[in-house]
Amino acid sequence: MAAQILDGKEVAAAVKAEVEAAVAHLDYQPGLATVLVGDDPASHTYVRGKRRDAGEVGIRSHHHELAADTRQGDLESLIDDLNDDDQVDGVLVQLPLPSGLDSESIVARIDPAKDVDGLHPYNLGLLVLDRPGLRPCTPGGIMRILDHYQITTRGSRAVVVGRSFLVGRPLALMLASRGADATVSVAHSRTTDLAAVTAEADILVAAVGSPSLISAQHVREGAVVIDVGINRTDDGLVGDVDFESVSQVASAITPVPGGVGPMTRAMLLANTLAAARARRGS
Ligand code: NAP
Repeated sequence: MAAQILDGKEVAAAVKAEVEAAVAHLDYQPGLATVLVGDDPASHTYVRGKRRDAGEVGIRSHHHELAADTRQGDLESLIDDLNDDDQVDGVLVQLPLPSGLDSESIVARIDPAKDVDGLHPYNLGLLVLDRPGLRPCTPGGIMRILDHYQITTRGSRAVVVGRSFLVGRPLALMLASRGADATVSVAHSRTTDLAAVTAEADILVAAVGSPSLISAQHVREGAVVIDVGINRTDDGLVGDVDFESVSQVASAITPVPGGVGPMTRAMLLANTLAAARARRGS
């Protein structure tokens, strides 16, 4: 039987509607600052989309575009200004930064209260401690998809393929956190016999960046499969999961495009609203 499609566009629309309704009741307009350095076309497309989303839900966008040869010190000064700007509730620096810029120290310079990407060491520390805080957008979006479709994580066996600080690691922590209560394994490029590991999963997440790495033989009958990968190939945009074969085995699956991607954008809006409320006490 073909798997149920977990429609990220639909869930993202629900998140956006919630944020829009909440923003409409505030007596101030939340502000999101986007910082784009260099001319990477994909980064320009992503930031354009994020700014458009913000406008659609009533969040004011403060956009800053800098040349690829911007010096570390100048970018740090901009971050300091945005940290001090009372109209700015969230600061998003589009990654990756051009070579020569140290993205780790730039992210660490953002005021953790305005870290709407959830990647500041302080916020990642709160995640490790299982305490509330701004969570990274992509794993946050995946948790929201599972919640929306009432997929039980408690007691389930989850396998996350990929251990990046952006997706795999934080997602593994979120799945294992109190309340979610999954039993989690993390696989990576040094994992031996990946298929044997992934075949144990009730919930399988692929966050690798390798087209169609996960095929039907990696998937247990009835598993829920979340495909985070975005790979540009001659056949267009594809995920890390071979959708054709895996959708015959899985009980539910996210498509690419239209799965996790829209959720990443929606969670940025939710984080901006949360940051604004926490900062302004409303
Ligand atoms: P990343 O930093 O490159 O991490 C990739 C991970 O995959 C690493 O942990 C790596 O292991 C592991 N890996 C590589 N080859 C493997 C293999 N053959 N078997 C098992 N594990 C393997 O990438 P990322 O930033 O996490 O992104 C992953 C994918 O998600 C990319 O396609 C990216 O474009 C996409 N993405 C999508 C969204 C979205 O909104 N949909 C958001 C973020 C990222 P090692 O640690 O051992 O190297």
